[in-house]
Parts: sequence; C-alpha cells; structure tokens
Amino acid sequence: MRKYVIMGAQGSGKGTQAAMLAKDFDLVHISVGDIFRWHVQSHTKLGAYVRRTIAEGELVGDDRVEAVVRDRLEQHDWNYGFLIDGFPRNRRQAEFFLESYDIDGVIHLDLPDEEVWRRVLARRLCSRCGLDYNLIAHSPQNQGRCDVCGGELVSREDDTPEALTARLRDYHSKTDPVLDLFRRKEYVISVDARPDKATVQAAIREQLGLPTR
Ligand SMILES: [Zn+2]
Repeated sequence: MRKYVIMGAQGSGKGTQAAMLAKDFDLVHISVGDIFRWHVQSHTKLGAYVRRTIAEGELVGDDRVEAVVRDRLEQHDWNYGFLIDGFPRNRRQAEFFLESYDIDGVIHLDLPDEEVWRRVLARRLCSRCGLDYNLIAHSPQNQGRCDVCGGELVSREDDTPEALTARLRDYHSKTDPVLDLFRRKEYVISVDARPDKATVQAAIREQLGLPTR
C-alpha cells in the first residue's frame, strides 16, 4: 500500500505526473479539482455551490474540500494506495490529514515562479473546438490558428498576469506552511519540475524508491 500527496504550483505538471504514477502503481488518483469539476458538470448541489463560489471570485471553503476528500477516501477502493492532488491546502487540513492517515511521502514538484509565469502565459485554447495548446511545448503549425479546425487561439480568461499573480500569492501563502509541516515530519521529496515529463517522473520514482521500469 502506497499513500502519497502531490503538491506543486500551476503549470508544474502535477496532473500529468500524478496520472503516470497512478497508472503504473495502481494508485487511486484523487484530484480535488477533478471532483469539483465533475460536480459542476453533473449539476449536483455541491456543483452549484462551487459554481457560485467561483463566480464570486472566492475559493471553495476548506470544509467542503475536506469533506470531499474524506468521502472519497472512505470508499476504500484504493487497494494499492492513493495519490492525492489538491489537498491539503493549508496547515489545519494537513494536521487533520496526518492524524487520520499514515502517508508514505509528499511529492513536491518544485518550479520557480518565473517558470510558472512562462508556462501559464504560454497556454492557449482554440476558441472554436476547445483544444489546448502550449506555445512552448505544443505550438500550432500556423501561428494563432488551431491545427484541427483552424479556429482562433486565445488565452484562457483566467490566465491574465493579474490573476496569475493572485493565484501564485495564494498558493505560496497556503502551501509553503503545509510543506514546512510535512518537511519537519520528513515526508517531503522535492523534484525539479523544469525538465521534460519522463525525466521528472524518473526522478520522483528514484526518490521514492519505486521501481523505474
Ligand atoms: Zn480548434
């Protein structure tokens, strides 16, 4: 049984790295963001709350986040373990979590803020078909046009410098104390998130003592 938490700023490749680990080690990938998105799309009561909260420019309350994670873990379908992404978000949640579960490690994807900026501001979205582009890693053949449908590529609404500054500030003010707490318990492995995804994945496995294949 392997129980991990994965942490990293936006653009750090957290979702990709988590999916790679989950697939090869049969871990249940618990992404708080994905669970909330599912609720919004499925028009549940929680989804309505999430939609309203985000529209007001607020963050989903800690108690809701905690409840979602607890409910998910209580399904006990994680025979080989789990990998949590998007939780804990603050010190209080981290303490609650450590009291309830023995975790084996916290994977910290370390990405300097200037690289977060570079990556996030390079993201584009096709305004017609919704395909994602990244002007660094996946640039279109014709500048500004979707390869699939020819639609115009635009930035995401919330990928403005102002919004990113606010999100990064929020990320550090909440996450840094959580990392400090986990570090004191010697759970944290820090991995440089700047190289390509295969290199990052190999570094994670090496530091966690997992087979690399
Ligand atoms: Zn398109």
